[in-house]
Amino acid sequence: MNWEIIIGLEVHAELSTRSKLFCPCSTAFGGAPNTQVCPVCSGMPGSLPAVNRAAVEYAMRLGLALGCSVAERCKFDRKNYFYPDLPKAYQVSQLYEPICRDGALEICSPSGPKTIGIREIHMEEDAGKLNHNGVTLMDFNRCGVPLLEIVSQPDMRGGAEAVAYLEKLRDTLLYLDICDCKMQEGSIRADVNVSVRRPGEALGTRTEMKNLNSFKAIARAIDYESRRQADILQSGGAITQETRRWDDANGVSYGMRNKENAQDYRYFPEPDLLPLRIDAAWLAAVRESLPEMAHQKRERYMREHGLSAHEAAVLTSHRNVARLYEELCALSSQPVESARLLTGEVMRLCNATGTAAEDLALDAAKLARLVGFVLDGKISRAAYKEVTEAVFTRDADVDAYIAEKGLMMSLRGDEAAEAARLVLAEQPGALADYRAGKQKAFGFLMGQVMRKLGGAGNPALAERALRQALDGSD
Ligand code: ADP
Ligand code: MG
Ligand code: ZN
Repeated sequence: MNWEIIIGLEVHAELSTRSKLFCPCSTAFGGAPNTQVCPVCSGMPGSLPAVNRAAVEYAMRLGLALGCSVAERCKFDRKNYFYPDLPKAYQVSQLYEPICRDGALEICSPSGPKTIGIREIHMEEDAGKLNHNGVTLMDFNRCGVPLLEIVSQPDMRGGAEAVAYLEKLRDTLLYLDICDCKMQEGSIRADVNVSVRRPGEALGTRTEMKNLNSFKAIARAIDYESRRQADILQSGGAITQETRRWDDANGVSYGMRNKENAQDYRYFPEPDLLPLRIDAAWLAAVRESLPEMAHQKRERYMREHGLSAHEAAVLTSHRNVARLYEELCALSSQPVESARLLTGEVMRLCNATGTAAEDLALDAAKLARLVGFVLDGKISRAAYKEVTEAVFTRDADVDAYIAEKGLMMSLRGDEAAEAARLVLAEQPGALADYRAGKQKAFGFLMGQVMRKLGGAGNPALAERALRQALDGSD
């Protein structure tokens, strides 16, 4: 039997604001435990929260980028539960009036472009971390770090589409500069909702797996869970709506608890915060300040620099690559050669070394110097490749490397002319052959000129000098 896999994702993105959602504590990752806390984020009775304006603007940015309607008024609610990583015993979130609703994200699914609906984006605060190591220790540094929860419609069909959605969402967050998207630091985590149905049927009962933090784990979890559900339905059973834990090490999911409802959390409006008002002027100012997004850059690169659609797509495939390209263009003033270098040799090196675009950390100034050298005919294309690789793999110093390997070609036309003159004097036989119309003799003479110039010879200059010496013309 054919089962259609239905996925809806709830993605939590940690915002890269400097301070927390309701207090001035730092959000920096990796600080010594409990050094970034205050009475507000550690839940001291009587402390009062104040909303971080930047976090609200980051939410507005994402809402605008995803074509959502941004609420003129939204408010916060308390979601009550007991967890040792949340000393207040409630999380401030937005249940009833989220900041953004009804958007869409264009993804590149394996079967072509597809639009995934965004149901809502709401703001909430993160919880702390429990470190289990014999005893359990609590670190409240992450308490109160601002999160956006981005809730999709159940529009994805299978793991590959879910991963395509996550990649596109990650790129969007990066281009907007609102989340560092470091999955290994938990900056984005996804709750994965999975159900299966026979094509054409209504949506089936779903299960939810919480807090998955790698694309690979998400794809595997979807694969496993959809099979498990299909097997149950196939043999006449029914799916229980529940929260399941994905055990990535063993590649299985198991039931954890019945899915809780909103009532279980006894949501109620957060009494310590006033509703937020977002007027037209504020929204317009944020819209005005939106950075240039991937598709806009793509069009601009093609229009301004005459790049191909393929080059423009590669250069904007990740914010990091686009940033490097723009720096390189600014330093070299050579947009076409810069594009050629990044989409060619640098991408090849990324693939060969398994370097992800997000980890690409090349020094644009070094590449700009190389671009200048090759376009001025100071180094050969082969040397260009070699030095690029040295810069890529070990951040080599361009000038030192070129000097050490003797890659700088002679630029002095008079040197080449002198070498050509000497060669013709030394090789009367080859000269006579050339005069008699033997083309091979030219190649031989060229070789001799290059030899005289040593490793520093510039073939273009040498050829011109030799032709001039032979024919008195270019
Ligand atoms: P809850 O209120 O329990 O969080 P929602 O209706 O808000 O549930 O949906 C949460 C997520 O589950 C959304 O991303 C949504 O797309 C997804 N979802 C809802 N129904 C299904 C389904 N039948 N199959 C797969 N995903 C679903
Ligand atoms: Mg939910
Ligand atoms: Zn604090």
